[in-house]
Amino acid sequence: MLVEKTDHLSDTIFKYQKGKHVMATPEVLPLRSDIAFAAGKREMVLDAWGEAVEKMSAQVRFGFDVTEITGQKDDFLVTAANGDTVRCRNIVLALGNQGNPNLIGFPDDGSVIVEYQLDDPLEILDEKVVVLGGGDAAIENAMGLGQDPDQGNEVTIVQRRAVFARAKKANVDGLMAAASNELLSIMTEAAPQEIKGGIVRIEGRDGELNVPADRLIARLGSAPPRKLLESFGIEFTGNEKEALPKISARFESNITGMYVVGAIAGYPLIKNCINQGFDAIEYINGNLDLASVDEPLLAAKFESLPV
Ligand SMILES: Cc1cc2nc3c(=O)[nH]c(=O)nc-3n(C[C@H](O)[C@H](O)[C@H](O)COP(=O)(O)OP(=O)(O)OC[C@H]3O[C@@H](n4cnc5c(N)ncnc54)[C@H](O)[C@@H]3O)c2cc1C
Repeated sequence: MLVEKTDHLSDTIFKYQKGKHVMATPEVLPLRSDIAFAAGKREMVLDAWGEAVEKMSAQVRFGFDVTEITGQKDDFLVTAANGDTVRCRNIVLALGNQGNPNLIGFPDDGSVIVEYQLDDPLEILDEKVVVLGGGDAAIENAMGLGQDPDQGNEVTIVQRRAVFARAKKANVDGLMAAASNELLSIMTEAAPQEIKGGIVRIEGRDGELNVPADRLIARLGSAPPRKLLESFGIEFTGNEKEALPKISARFESNITGMYVVGAIAGYPLIKNCINQGFDAIEYINGNLDLASVDEPLLAAKFESLPV
């Protein structure tokens, strides 16, 4: 049974900005799944998954926000915020990180709308928008808001580093082209210090700049919901912010029968997450010899090395 806290599947993809091109990287990595996944528009991916899940007659319980897990392998009790419960033998946790975005850490007087996601860039018109972050999410938001001059937005993307090293090349190329065409502005090696009176004060390489803004969209990454996972009994690799749940090569946590996959296990791409979910179920079903999907790729890569 799949339990999901919202009223739809795949909430993270559901919340991508409308029309987003979903990438299916790494291209060389095979997909292990009964449900197809290929690069394409957000809407296309969601429709395909929805149809496939319906065809499989999968048992799904929506509105089931897991807040407590007690018991042990073969007799776990999973409890939701509304008091509903499910008993099960094993659990695969694939909670994602999106419920726990990294927040802006600078003073904010509330004069600018601060958000951590963007649903539909076409709904934002004639606004001054500052987008914070250097990853794909920030770039896609900035381009969605700035690339059509008829929307009338003035968009500035601000990031701490000198280059957009974490983002996909296609996105970085698109961003640079948009900046050359004066559709948006880029500030690198820069960091906001404060929001006050409708102004974002940004300190950069060339000194301080006051950028007027109606809205600030912060795409600063996210972290596993550590408190919740620890309340289930899951141990982490350390105390640092970037620490991950401790898992075995078969994605099993320190609690026998409780598996951790996907973004909360530290894997940032959909294809990895799908493959891990598939593998975890195979391991639970006793297929313990199943090798990781990338094993043949790694073997080929290291073939020429001396043993
Ligand atoms: C803006 C953005 C753009 C991205 N673009 C791409 C891309 O193009 N290609 C790519 O490969 N990756 C992309 N990613 C990364 C990708 O979306 C994630 O790595 C992936 O969705 C993680 O999958 P997951 O199954 O681990 O968790 P998620 O997809 O986050 O799913 C977690 C699910 O668990 C539910 N849930 C959470 N807590 C509970 C609870 N307590 N009880 C019940 N249900 C709960 C959530 O509602 C959600 O439906 C992007 C991420 C973002 C934020």
